[in-house]
Amino acid sequence: MSEQVVTRFAPSPTGFLHIGGARTALFNWLYARGRGGKFLLRIEDTDRERSTPEATEAILKGMAWLGLDHDGEVISQFARADRHAEVANQLLAEGKAYKCFSTQEEIAAFREQARAEGKSTLFRSPWREADPSTHPDRPFVVRIKALQEGVTVIRDKVQGDVTIRNDQLDDMVLLRSDGTPVYMLAVVVDDHDMGVTHVIRGDDHLNNAARQMMIYQAMGWDVPVWAHIPLIHGPDGKKLSKRHGALGAQEYQAMGYPAAGMRNYLARLGWSHGDDEFFTDEQAREWFDLDGIGKSPARFDLKKLENLCGQHIAISDDAALRQEIQDYLEAANLPQLTDGQAADLERAMYCLKDRARTFPELLEKARFVLASRPIDLDEKAQKALASVSDGILKQLTPHLQNASWTRDALEEVLNSFAEANGLKFGKLAGPLRAALAGRAVTPSVFDMMLVLGRDETLARISDAANQA
Ligand code: GLU
Repeated sequence: MSEQVVTRFAPSPTGFLHIGGARTALFNWLYARGRGGKFLLRIEDTDRERSTPEATEAILKGMAWLGLDHDGEVISQFARADRHAEVANQLLAEGKAYKCFSTQEEIAAFREQARAEGKSTLFRSPWREADPSTHPDRPFVVRIKALQEGVTVIRDKVQGDVTIRNDQLDDMVLLRSDGTPVYMLAVVVDDHDMGVTHVIRGDDHLNNAARQMMIYQAMGWDVPVWAHIPLIHGPDGKKLSKRHGALGAQEYQAMGYPAAGMRNYLARLGWSHGDDEFFTDEQAREWFDLDGIGKSPARFDLKKLENLCGQHIAISDDAALRQEIQDYLEAANLPQLTDGQAADLERAMYCLKDRARTFPELLEKARFVLASRPIDLDEKAQKALASVSDGILKQLTPHLQNASWTRDALEEVLNSFAEANGLKFGKLAGPLRAALAGRAVTPSVFDMMLVLGRDETLARISDAANQA
C-alpha cells in the first residue's frame, strides 16, 4: 500500500493571503484532497518582529473564503522551537554539527581575506574539526557539517533535477548564539514531524531546498517530494505587484468574485489539464497532479477570471449563491439584505445567474426584486418608457388582470396585445422593463412578472403609466 499523501501550506504571517500564497495553498489542498490525503496548515511565525496575529487571522479568513479546509490543528512554528533545538543538539551529539565560536568580526575578516585572495568567500569555520577540549567559554552558534565535495541533487517534480555543487554550500547555522533555531532548521523538522510527503511551494524556495536537504540527510530522514512552482506574473510579464491590481485573495471576495470561480482560475494559473479551462471542484480534485504544472511563470488575467466566475455562478445552487452574495456584501462593507430581500433574491436566482460574471453584476440584474415601489428609473429606462404612447401600459393592465399567471399565458397575452396594437414585442418589452425594474438591462419581462407576482407587477405598471 502506498503511503498516505500529506501536504501542507506554510505561510509566514506578515500580511494578508496574497494570490500567490492562495494558489500554493490550493495546489497543496487539491493534491491531498484528490488522493484521500491530509492537508495541514503551519503558520511560520518564527520571525517575531514581522509576524502578527492579525496576519494569521487574515490568512485563515482568506483560506476559509476559498474553502481550503485543513486537517488538524493550526501548527505554530514558533511554539515548536524547543523541538527544533533538540534536533540541532542531536546532530551536535552525533558529530554531524559543531559548535562554532567565531565572532562576527572574525567571519568578516575571513571573507575580506578570501576576497583579497580571489577565493570563495563562503565561511569555513576553524571550529569544524576542533577538539571539544579546546573550546573556549564564550558564546557559540551550532553549525551543520555540510558535505564539501560532490553534488546535491534536488529531484523536483516541476523543475526537474537541480544539481548544486556541495562546495558552494557553507556550514549553515542551525542554532544562533542565543540558542534559538534558525528558520531553515524549523521547516525541515516541522515537515518531518508532521509527516509531510509532498512540499509544493513557490520556486523562490528552491535554493533553500538544497540547504534543507543537508538536514534531512544528516538526520537520515526521508526527503519529501518537492515541487517548486513558478511565481505568478502580471499581464505584462513582470512579477505580480500592486500596480497590477488587487493582490489579496480576500480583496477578490470584496469585489464580488465567487470562490468557486476563483479556485478554478487559481488552479489554471500555472497548471493545466489538456485544454480544459472551466472545471468543477470535483474535476479539479480528480485531475490535479504535479505533471501538469508548467515551468514558466503564469500570467494573471482578469478577463479570464471573470469569464470563469460567470460560468461558476451559472451552475451554482441558488441557496448557496444567495448565502455567498450575503457574505460578499458583508466583506465589501455594503448594506446587508433584509430577510425578505434575501428570500426574494433566492427565488429570482434562476433568472439572474446566467451571464453575471460577478456578484455586483448579478445584483444589478436583481434590482427588480430587491427594490421596492416607487421604482426609480434610470435615464435609459425613462427613455424606454417615453418611447410608447402614454396609454399603452394602461391599456395592457386589464389583460394582465385577467391572465392566468403562468409563463405560457403571459407570453400569449403580451404577444397578442403587441400584435393588436401594431407593435413589435421589443417595443413593448422596453417600457415594461422600465416599469418593473427601472433599468434597461434586466431578466426577461416574463421572469420578472413571474417572480414579482400579479399584484406587484400591476402596481409597478400603474406607477409607470401614471408617470409617463
Ligand atoms: N513560510 C514560507 C513562505 O511564506 C514558506 C516556506 C515553505 O513552504 O517551505 O514563503
